Amino acid sequence: MMKSRRSFLKISGACLLGLGVKPVLNAFAQAERMEIAPNPNALRAGRWALVVDITKCRDDCTDCINACNRAHNIPDLGRTKEEVKWIWNESYEHAFPGVEHEFVEERVKHQPFMVLCNHCDNPPCVRVCPVQATWKREDGIVMMDFHRCIGCRCCMAACPYGSRSFNWTDPRPYIPEGRMNPDFPTRTKGVVEKCNFCVERLAKGLQPACVESCSSGVLTFGDLDDPNSEVRKVLGERYSIQRKPELGTRPRVYYIL
Ligand code: SF4
Ligand code: SF4
Repeated sequence: MMKSRRSFLKISGACLLGLGVKPVLNAFAQAERMEIAPNPNALRAGRWALVVDITKCRDDCTDCINACNRAHNIPDLGRTKEEVKWIWNESYEHAFPGVEHEFVEERVKHQPFMVLCNHCDNPPCVRVCPVQATWKREDGIVMMDFHRCIGCRCCMAACPYGSRSFNWTDPRPYIPEGRMNPDFPTRTKGVVEKCNFCVERLAKGLQPACVESCSSGVLTFGDLDDPNSEVRKVLGERYSIQRKPELGTRPRVYYIL
């Protein structure tokens, strides 16, 4: 007769305990205590932030988008409705609804604005996730655990910036030929994803891929809590705006127009 899964687990659990499993458990406990030594070169901050100086951005340039797509195995589905995007261009009126008015400079009206997850200080996406698949790190980066995500898309509904994408289909076959980054995990159908401020690169002491790729100096990334950081310097010298600040999400991406 087939044993039920529950009785099997009960029996095997009892067997393990009976067969002197203590050394095994000790080994697990030891492994849990073992810590991976942090990279001494890792970049750290009290609160990471990104400044986008649109005045320096070239209309025809997509270097930051391409660099992010390459670094994070973003699929190219060729279907706008199912598109997966971590960083992309928006028009001024879509990026800053309610801020537009008839006297806005023509240059600003027609300039593409690169947008991404704002790593909000007060992120509504984190609050609504029923399984804690998304959370905020101490340094302010809003993270996603692709394995924990159950695909309910509550976080997408809660994000007022459309910064999250859902994998409606298996994305792996759509990663362009020769562009697979073996150092970054691919995702599966049914999970949500978004910009991660390049945590995997910060851990190696590298700037985010988009920042590194920009040769025009549009992007400045740094510690908002450090008064001597480059982001603080730029924000102190130039007037900047954030997306939908009236919602109280406290975005950590600033735009200089
Ligand atoms: S921009 Fe959207 S996804 Fe990113 S932290 Fe804010 S609410 Fe969450
Ligand atoms: S910070 Fe990293 S993940 Fe976010 S848009 Fe830039 S390259 Fe992509």
